[in-house]
Amino acid sequence: MPDALLDTAGLVTGYGQLPVLQDIDLRIVPGELVGLVGPNGAGKTTLLQAIVGLLPAWHGSVSFAGQDVTRWDARRRARAGISLVAEGRQLFAGLTVRENLTLAATATGNAVEENLERVLALFPELERLLGRVSGTMSGGEQQMCAIGRGLMCRPSLLMIDELSLGLAPVVVDRLVHALSQIHQTMGITIIFVEQDVDLAMDTADRVVLLGMGRVVMDAPAPAVRARRTELEHTFLGLPIDGQTVDVIAEA
Ligand code: ATP
Repeated sequence: MPDALLDTAGLVTGYGQLPVLQDIDLRIVPGELVGLVGPNGAGKTTLLQAIVGLLPAWHGSVSFAGQDVTRWDARRRARAGISLVAEGRQLFAGLTVRENLTLAATATGNAVEENLERVLALFPELERLLGRVSGTMSGGEQQMCAIGRGLMCRPSLLMIDELSLGLAPVVVDRLVHALSQIHQTMGITIIFVEQDVDLAMDTADRVVLLGMGRVVMDAPAPAVRARRTELEHTFLGLPIDGQTVDVIAEA
């Protein structure tokens, strides 16, 4: 088995006195495309924030590319190659697309021109928008800019929170296509959070289902698809035959 790119072991974190993530063991190898799903409040965003270093681990560890990064701050983790496209895009709304992209590269010590070229090759739509103030763009354009900004940091792990939320189907198709290019052509490992579990199963190689801060299911996408009905019950919080869904770890 190849060495893990990302490895969380017994990861626990939360907010204030409130624990949210409980004992998360997640191992991701280079080249994986992982969909992270789960009901509202399951802890998906919290997990991404703990991986990128915006939330400290209360217990357990986070390793990245063979190094224990548990005590590293977010800036150091970004420089090491972990990039997060946060929920709601989080662009600097008053800055132009070019400025948003440039800042991301310089803040992480990466070259601007070469990475800008790479982003524009992926999203040619952004070329004519480079001078546009990002807050005036459509949701889809902003999401392209936000993903582009993540790529300007030259990540080996790109995490996208809420890939498709609030976007029209045609825009979602465009983003899914871009995701597969980032994965296949650029060779970047991806974790994306997705509300639409069918979209996650169709796009990802592997699906991780979080529920109440725990990994409830972690399996290749086809195995998850085969248990679609159970998943629906899990999402609705209904028991199956009086039992909760067993944890399966087939990945
Ligand atoms: P959603 O799909 O709704 O975005 P999620 O799976 O990403 O949900 P999180 O946003 O990680 O879930 O939230 C997990 C839990 O942590 C929820 O109970 C939420 O209310 C709580 N939580 C999230 N952010 C904070 C915060 N800043 N302060 C306190 N509690 C928080």
